[in-house]
Amino acid sequence: MTTPTGDQALIKRINTAIVLESILRNAPLSRAQISEQSGLNKATVSSLVQDLIDGSLVREIGTGQSSGGRKPVMLDFVSSSGYAIGIDLGVNYIRGVLADLRGNVVAERTSSLRLGDAGGEAGVSIAVDQLCGCIESLMTEAPASAYGIVGIGVGVPGLVDDGGTLLLAPNLKWRDVPLQRILTDKFSLPVTIDNEANMGALGEQKYGAGRSIGNIIYVSVGIGIGTGLILNKSLYKGASGFSGEMGHLSVEAHGKSCTCGNRGCWEMYASEQALLEQASPLGFDDLESLLAAAGEGRADVLELFAGIGEYLGIGIANIVNVFNPDAVVIGNRMSQARPWLEDVLRRTVVQRALGFHLRKVQLLFAELGERSTMMGAAEMAIEGFFARVKAT
Ligand SMILES: [Zn+2]
Repeated sequence: MTTPTGDQALIKRINTAIVLESILRNAPLSRAQISEQSGLNKATVSSLVQDLIDGSLVREIGTGQSSGGRKPVMLDFVSSSGYAIGIDLGVNYIRGVLADLRGNVVAERTSSLRLGDAGGEAGVSIAVDQLCGCIESLMTEAPASAYGIVGIGVGVPGLVDDGGTLLLAPNLKWRDVPLQRILTDKFSLPVTIDNEANMGALGEQKYGAGRSIGNIIYVSVGIGIGTGLILNKSLYKGASGFSGEMGHLSVEAHGKSCTCGNRGCWEMYASEQALLEQASPLGFDDLESLLAAAGEGRADVLELFAGIGEYLGIGIANIVNVFNPDAVVIGNRMSQARPWLEDVLRRTVVQRALGFHLRKVQLLFAELGERSTMMGAAEMAIEGFFARVKAT
């Protein structure tokens, strides 16, 4: 037997990727169906499928319908051959999920993050300890599997560079935190860090309201506002990974000062922070109690939510005009206020966006609610694993 040349090895990698993708998308299916769909010959498919079976990623699950002749053996992807951890590191909470390779949730954790006045390094240290505790706790929930934990994804409320360093998180008051390096050193696993809105967009596209939609603008409305752009079905990150900072779109020329240095930024008027500022004189200090009061029909609270809805509509009208998307998905914590925001938000978008742009656009709320970012973070870890499988 001869040693495969570089080209043969490359072709095998490409073909393995095709076969695995075919099984991921269309399982259960037979070797003959993979061959038909991919154009690869049956011998090649059989050999690659055997490699995937040997690698515990694919299994035979009995026979399917025959179209004449022997009944074909059906193949399925083994979603329990590995597990991913997805984390949403918020300004005032940490959420985590352990999911199998199909994104089925095995365990979840939520805890509040109270940094108080602990800014800078003290705040980072408290948050990183709590984050590591959450990851460790999720790891203990993972069933025994061929690949174990395949990776960790973390969504963060700020700008992240290619090396997974959180360059700036204004609402956490963090600068230059090498989060990917810290977590890689601690857990010796592949770690992906990205902006929470990018992760949320991916979560909704893969598992939520954005399934099978090509162009989605995901608007994450939490303490601040971030947006994740799915253009032609892929996450658009810009030249340096910094796209989507629409929370700092100027909506008031002489408006309130923002932590970014600008004035009148969208998130100063339409975020959870904006709502809490306005609700403080009424004696409220968190979103949950405001949601409860709105549910009881308290008029002054309903008025506050309507105001947030109007400002959300103003920003979304701008987004609709710029991107002409198929859908805008409103997510993160404020999506819980849908019953009290939605009418005024829709009305505002219709009043302000250009008519042609409104024809096709769907205004949706995140199906995963507050779970979009952690599911997207888990998905990013899963995609990283598949990319490594396809490259070997
Ligand atoms: Zn700003």
